[in-house]
Amino acid sequence: MTTSSSHIMPTYVRFETDFVRGEGMYLFDQDGRRYLDCYAGIAVNGLGHCHPHLVKILQDQAQQLWHVSNLFTIGAQERLGQRLAASCFADYVFFCNSGVEANEGLIKLARGYQSHQGHPEKWRIITTKGAFHGRTLLTLAAANHGPYLEGFGPRIDGFDNVAFGDSDAVKAAITKETAAILIEPIQGDGGINVNSHAYLENLRKIADEHGLLLLMDEVQSGNGRTGKMWAHQWSNITPDAMATAKGIGGGFPLGAILATKKTASGMKPKSHGSTFGGNPLAVAVGNGVLDIIDNDDFLHQVRQTGDALKTCLEQKVAAYPNHFREVRGIGLMQGLVCQPDIAAQDMIMAFMAQGLLTVTAAQNVIRFLPPLIMTQAHINEASQSIDAALISEQKKAV
Ligand code: PLP
Repeated sequence: MTTSSSHIMPTYVRFETDFVRGEGMYLFDQDGRRYLDCYAGIAVNGLGHCHPHLVKILQDQAQQLWHVSNLFTIGAQERLGQRLAASCFADYVFFCNSGVEANEGLIKLARGYQSHQGHPEKWRIITTKGAFHGRTLLTLAAANHGPYLEGFGPRIDGFDNVAFGDSDAVKAAITKETAAILIEPIQGDGGINVNSHAYLENLRKIADEHGLLLLMDEVQSGNGRTGKMWAHQWSNITPDAMATAKGIGGGFPLGAILATKKTASGMKPKSHGSTFGGNPLAVAVGNGVLDIIDNDDFLHQVRQTGDALKTCLEQKVAAYPNHFREVRGIGLMQGLVCQPDIAAQDMIMAFMAQGLLTVTAAQNVIRFLPPLIMTQAHINEASQSIDAALISEQKKAV
């Protein structure tokens, strides 16, 4: 863990490992040790590390133009906006720098929409337990995650937090002040909790019946991670607006709000903005990411690899029933659930000792969020590392 002489504010419990180089599926630490990356900087490096296409684009753009602000038209931003809109239900895209900014904007957009429709009294948002929408005071209030809110004053009002996956609970929470429903199609930090198609379809119906917006947080689940461009595309419904980030920039900070024209009707000049959002460097890389992932063959490959990874992890549940309970997830967003007396954090450290990088989530889950370029050979390698970690743990226990 980080030493006490560090000047970095201690908001993270960090490993001391200092990765100095990345190449494809692998990271290399300061001692030259190689690790198989199965967490991708928490679902960010969708194309792995230093993908040649992205490196070339970033280098070329760095020599041309970095930043001009959103006071001017940015050609590559227009192009990325058009391509992202074409990939889903959206007409409009707003670019920002991170997931939390995208969610803050999404909440504003929903309130602005209702106000523009003549319903300024509709401002509350229904959210679900186990959600994670970011670390600002507003998004922490939205997710209503007790420990993250403790010590930071009263929770900001405006959110009604109901049980996960329960459309009756959503219905029961609606009042004349409700503006929207906000969910992650698959909860990431909450423990890879997959919402059913029936639930999503129910929410769509409820939103339409009550004049509410259906908002999706696809910060983690989007950008090809589940084998579709957007996780909600596994179902038959579309949201009214969506937030995304992480994989959209392949490692370059970029986020976006996507919305239909009607949903964005409350957003006018000066109602929202960002100095850096969608600057020439970020959107150049964003376009580069889309060049590769927004492609049927690529997404098909992600689905196949995702199925193979799931099968591999299910085999581990069968082989080590004292350690693992179940596997859940879609595509390359998989959660290996540990037994109650096994700490997921201990397991990821045991995996790391064998050169395999994963990340924990709530509910004692080990998340596998590898770069989307993973192959069967990488899965075999991950499988061997898991076996080696378990053998080593069992040896320690006797
Ligand atoms: N929403 C979801 C679903 C996330 O998983 C995250 C980050 O983990 C966020 C929002 C916040 O994104 P960021 O850390 O880029 O602000």
